[in-house]
Amino acid sequence: MMMKISIRVIMVVVLICLFSSTSPANDAESSGFRAGAAKADITPTEWPVHMVGSFAPRLAHKAWDPLYVRAIVLDDGNTKMAIAVVDNCLIARSLFDEAKRRVEKNIGIPADHIMASATHTHTAPRARDFPGKKSDPKYVEQMMQGIVEAVTKANRNLEPAEFGRGSVDVPEEVFNRRWFMKPGGVNPNPFFGTIDKVRMNPPRGSKLLDRPAGPTDPEVSFVSLRSVDGRPIALLANYSLHYVGGIPPEGVSADYFGEFARLIEKKLGAKGGTHPEFVAIMSNGTSGDINNYNFRHPRKPAEPFQQMRAVAGRVAGAVTDTYPSVKHRRDVTLDIAQKKLTLNKRRPTPELVARAKKMLAAEKESPMSVQAKLYATRTLSLNEPPFTEELILQAARIGDLGVAAIPCEVFAETGLDIKKKSPLADTFTIELANGHYCYLPTPRQHALGGYETRLGTNILEIEASEKIKAVIFDLLDKVNSHGVDTPESDAKRQ
Ligand SMILES: [Zn+2]
Repeated sequence: MMMKISIRVIMVVVLICLFSSTSPANDAESSGFRAGAAKADITPTEWPVHMVGSFAPRLAHKAWDPLYVRAIVLDDGNTKMAIAVVDNCLIARSLFDEAKRRVEKNIGIPADHIMASATHTHTAPRARDFPGKKSDPKYVEQMMQGIVEAVTKANRNLEPAEFGRGSVDVPEEVFNRRWFMKPGGVNPNPFFGTIDKVRMNPPRGSKLLDRPAGPTDPEVSFVSLRSVDGRPIALLANYSLHYVGGIPPEGVSADYFGEFARLIEKKLGAKGGTHPEFVAIMSNGTSGDINNYNFRHPRKPAEPFQQMRAVAGRVAGAVTDTYPSVKHRRDVTLDIAQKKLTLNKRRPTPELVARAKKMLAAEKESPMSVQAKLYATRTLSLNEPPFTEELILQAARIGDLGVAAIPCEVFAETGLDIKKKSPLADTFTIELANGHYCYLPTPRQHALGGYETRLGTNILEIEASEKIKAVIFDLLDKVNSHGVDTPESDAKRQ
């Protein structure tokens, strides 16, 4: 008996020694920071396609430029995470959830370590259903598979890497689109029976313009990943601009997000060689109330594509000018945290429900505008369960950089507040991440009214932005405290 046990113990010890003797070699390979990047083409293959991003239906018959999922995978030996950005406008949580589930099953990156978002190009196929507007399940499948493919390839491309972060202001391309107007400048809203205090996208150059109702965030933040011998692997940028547009609606396009990526890839990408392709990415910051129109001093009307290319050129130029001064480092650790937050949805008043029903019933005799019909339909759907939404919120830490993720069209003032109060040395927020729940005005902006606060374009409770921000700060604290402090983040907190 004694003998038997000792032999077993010896065998176990021998086995442990065998395995542990192989681990130093594995450690040498896997220790230290690694990064990989890839993209997957998600341009539709069947035409025509219904596009998102407008009230009236629009059919596209071709692609002006390709649509992609662009992804990076990061690994510090302990934590592995993926960030994927999809050329689309509004992507439902269910689609992201399914794509993440497949990634986890295929390559083992946990679903809650994947931050996936939409750029917000308005010239992309519908990827979710809206009342009266169905998406094409075949395209939804193609997009989900694109997310899986891009992350899987990026994971395969992992190699020892260095991380750097940069920031440059491009204030001239961002404008707050909500304006206080002089008397007579805001039209009453007959459906809601309200008079807003601010007007969204007022007529450009109007004499009735008073002042913008909120700030802009001029910062272009970027993450640079490169190999240990200095070859660029990926550049992930973030800018708080809705989209640019000016793209003829008969074709799909990745808008300035795609053009920015093409310009950066051309400028920084290594030529030839057998290395994985360098991938540039533009993620959307907090741009729910920001667009590219100069309301006070309107520009001359642009040719199709002209403005989109000009904006991409200026933003990419600012990044490539700043790039040489970025300090890259090897000693980078990672962390990512996720929390689910349940929020109430807004409910219509009984009077509004009655008005919507009456208007829809009388539609044959008195036809409604596309917009009025949409608001009436959405009013009725908000009167039906579910009366809550469960949102996925995330914060990641790459070295001393924080990246927050919120699934709404977030107002710039919320993003600025997160940047200001984050415990990390530098932070940016990716919006439209991990789902889509319409606009996210602050309570202050709700009180001013306007398009983004309207029941239907807005679905979450009035306090949603504050509740979301509180969770984001908890998550940023969490990923920060797990990490090693850098001199920069220390200095910031002193
Ligand atoms: Zn939009």
